[in-house]
Amino acid sequence: MYPMSKLTAAKQYECYLEVAALLKSISFNVIAISVDNATANRKFFTEYLCNGALQTHITDTTTGQPLFLIFDPVHGLKNVYNNFQSRKVFECPPMVRNLPDGCCARFHDIIDLYNLEAAMTLKKAHKLTIATLYPKSIEKTSVKLATSLLSESTRDALKFYAVHEDKASWTGTANFLTLMIKLWNIINVKTRTKGKHKRDYTMDPVRSSLDWKLEFLREFASFLQEWEDSKKPGLTRETFFALRHTCLSLAECASYLLDHLGFDYVLLGHLQSDAIESRFGWLRQLSGANYYISMRQVIEGNIKIRALSLLKYSGFSVNEIDDVIQSDASRKRNTTDLAEDALADSMAESLLHLRWPSSNDANVIFYVSGAMARSVVRITRCEHCKEELVSPDPLAPIEMDDAFDYGAATFLEDVNRGGLTRPNDYSFELAVNCWRVFETIKSSLALKAQLLAAECQRSLFVKIIDRVTDISNCGQLLVSENYCVRGHDLKLLLVQRLFNCFAKNAIKQLNTEANQGSRQPAKRRKIAKLSSSSHQ
Ligand SMILES: [Zn+2]
Repeated sequence: MYPMSKLTAAKQYECYLEVAALLKSISFNVIAISVDNATANRKFFTEYLCNGALQTHITDTTTGQPLFLIFDPVHGLKNVYNNFQSRKVFECPPMVRNLPDGCCARFHDIIDLYNLEAAMTLKKAHKLTIATLYPKSIEKTSVKLATSLLSESTRDALKFYAVHEDKASWTGTANFLTLMIKLWNIINVKTRTKGKHKRDYTMDPVRSSLDWKLEFLREFASFLQEWEDSKKPGLTRETFFALRHTCLSLAECASYLLDHLGFDYVLLGHLQSDAIESRFGWLRQLSGANYYISMRQVIEGNIKIRALSLLKYSGFSVNEIDDVIQSDASRKRNTTDLAEDALADSMAESLLHLRWPSSNDANVIFYVSGAMARSVVRITRCEHCKEELVSPDPLAPIEMDDAFDYGAATFLEDVNRGGLTRPNDYSFELAVNCWRVFETIKSSLALKAQLLAAECQRSLFVKIIDRVTDISNCGQLLVSENYCVRGHDLKLLLVQRLFNCFAKNAIKQLNTEANQGSRQPAKRRKIAKLSSSSHQ
């Protein structure tokens, strides 16, 4: 993959040499190169590979093997459709057996056909759409539009109306479609059994170098030459050139594979750029249907596609994989749960001598617990929660342990301008106890390390609080469970929020400590620099 803003033939030749060497190094045997009919591509083939005169193949100088040069047949077909749509009239010369009298094809016949059937519930030319007749410029690259025109249903409808509805002039257009459909059928065979399934001998694989289909391709190339030489309305010069070349290259390539490499049959539908084009389409879809995708999107898209492809060939269904992932996730959850329980047990046991908050600490705890209570109520939107957590009486003193003989509400009252929430005893007491546990963990190197290393610090902390406040477990701090009448787990909701607050500050502190080492020398350097400059 080469990121490129403007492709030139020279650049392409460089890429080709690199890719060819790479493919050789991994033992790939390259038979053909397929490009679309862009100017840079034609120049690359003609001037860089063929020294000025385009050949159907070049000879690899190291192996002596031919390398066939093909303009993607799918692009050729799209170009025929686009030429027909924009130029409106084709006047074809005769072609042996296939088009004995030549024909005149008019795009307007297709439009008339579409309009004739427009109001019908059932249409013969059911593949025709308004987009086929008036494609937007972006749609001109769509194979679907080309095949909706060059399809048997369109051709058969034209024939039908030519015979039964006084539209004899449509015969010429139908004959042209017949010829193009035959060409397309022959060069688009991708499976060995397509001809059998479709009951159409033109879709059989090529089984011998004497196959009539290869002869048809050569005849078609001469037909195109004659058509172009006639100067009558036809394809553009580029389309004539590329399509003619490709018919000859495909025929030669198939003969080579059958006669020299001993292939049993050749599927011409694989000698095109379809596979890589569809991969590009897939990558664009994965990038949000974006036409110009970045290298990064290509790489990420390829990873997704590979995973999907592995899945496809693994023989597993998506449901089976889903089950495995889910049972794996729940198993993992169970084991981490158990490990966390054990860790919480041991940490709770080692929590001895919990520190009391200072008066200053108590003030902040009071303030924060009010804010946390308010946050819980805001989330649950529940009057009962409010009753359980918030003090209705702004003047009620906080009744706490004897240890609290100072006014914990001072700070809140100081900063309060009427909007702050006063916690009730429960909220404050729980907050104080959480603070004490967190402080103790933070001041112990061993416990701090255990907390930091935990997979989910908050849920571990919640479990520790449960253990130290559990009466039946002889917990040292007695804070009851608290469910409001509607079932909100107020203790859990508060502890989680308090932990978030504590952790946020603790992390700030850790970051500051970690950065101190790197900041100090810089500061010194700066001072040294300043002082040295002051000496000058
Ligand atoms: Zn509630």
